[in-house]
Amino acid sequence: MPLSRKISERVQAIRPSGIRRFFELVIGRKDVISLGVGEPDFPVPWSIRESMIYSLEKGWTSYTSNLGLKELRDGIAEYYKKFGVETSGENVLVTTGVSEGLDLALRATINPGDVVLIPEPCYVAYKPLAFLAYGEPVSIPTNPDFRLNYDVLKPYSKFEPKVLVLNYPNNPTGITYTKKELEEIADFVIDNDMIVISDEIYAELTYKGKHVSIASLNGMEEKTVILNGFSKAYAMTGFRIGYAIAPDEIVQAMTKIHQYCMLCAPITSQIGALEALKLKDEEMDKIRAEYMRRRNFFVKRLSKFLDVKMPEGAFYAFPSIKETGLSSEEFAERLLIEKGVAVVPGNAFGECGEGFVRCAYAVSMEKLKEAVERMEEFVENLKSD
Ligand code: PLP
Repeated sequence: MPLSRKISERVQAIRPSGIRRFFELVIGRKDVISLGVGEPDFPVPWSIRESMIYSLEKGWTSYTSNLGLKELRDGIAEYYKKFGVETSGENVLVTTGVSEGLDLALRATINPGDVVLIPEPCYVAYKPLAFLAYGEPVSIPTNPDFRLNYDVLKPYSKFEPKVLVLNYPNNPTGITYTKKELEEIADFVIDNDMIVISDEIYAELTYKGKHVSIASLNGMEEKTVILNGFSKAYAMTGFRIGYAIAPDEIVQAMTKIHQYCMLCAPITSQIGALEALKLKDEEMDKIRAEYMRRRNFFVKRLSKFLDVKMPEGAFYAFPSIKETGLSSEEFAERLLIEKGVAVVPGNAFGECGEGFVRCAYAVSMEKLKEAVERMEEFVENLKSD
């Protein structure tokens, strides 16, 4: 039997990430400006790196408790007060990125065939991870405004769903929710006795209003697994460090899996994360203000030739490319080949992302200016064809 046939059917059935494919196309091309990958271009603040170097000099290189360093867990619980959540370090599990948290949360809650509601367009990992956990992912298209509310969710009650995966500020659409909007989503979760996995990785990058965690709403503490981490706000992507905040039973269930598949998050990264929590609010304000400056410039320029909404958070713009007559993949591929600008086709984020592309504005103003000019030339040429 060929080795390929020995790969599990579930793994054979999942598609490689649409983002990675484009990432690989640009490797080695010096002329390319990549708006493709959601990777902050800020250096990791020096105090964080210094704490990690110090820890290595001290030889702190061992495993930690499965749950993570106690000071870090307590620090995370304290930090989450700013998003309205009263919790304790006991309810925090330190993970190797939000990615691991997602996997654990899904595996800890899903029985084979349980329905997992996934509003789309969404982050590329949700569907494959729900499927690998033997769940039944059901997509909820959120076009045209990309927002969820009770009426959008209501028809999905018939599936007797168990889990809703929520992400705000959203990758790829940039939308986020007010407390009032979250209350409608919470009503649906409560009415259907569900669990919500709330991926709040972009919480610090909220430009419109203040981020409110859905876990802070009445009756939601017992129904929410908050996922967050240090990759985006502190540019610590390569350190692979995040966390889950969940009710006792769920944290314990997630820890059961984590202790066997991961043991613990890397100690050096945990030390860096502890230092990140000590950063003053003003430092974060500066980073947020810089992203806002880029967003304002990029989206305003983009809106001259494509239909695009002003993102309310994260660092992505999601313009419609429908008027060009190209599919998302054709648009992204031709833009890359003809103009050397990498963006991600919207269908990588679910079928209803077709007709859009995602542009990450986490690059310098200089690169953004050049990229948007090349995009304009490309689109104007298409329009005049
Ligand atoms: N969740 C969302 C919405 C993301 O956009 C990303 C990365 O792009 C992740 C999770 C992965 O985060 P981490 O680096 O913490 O694993």
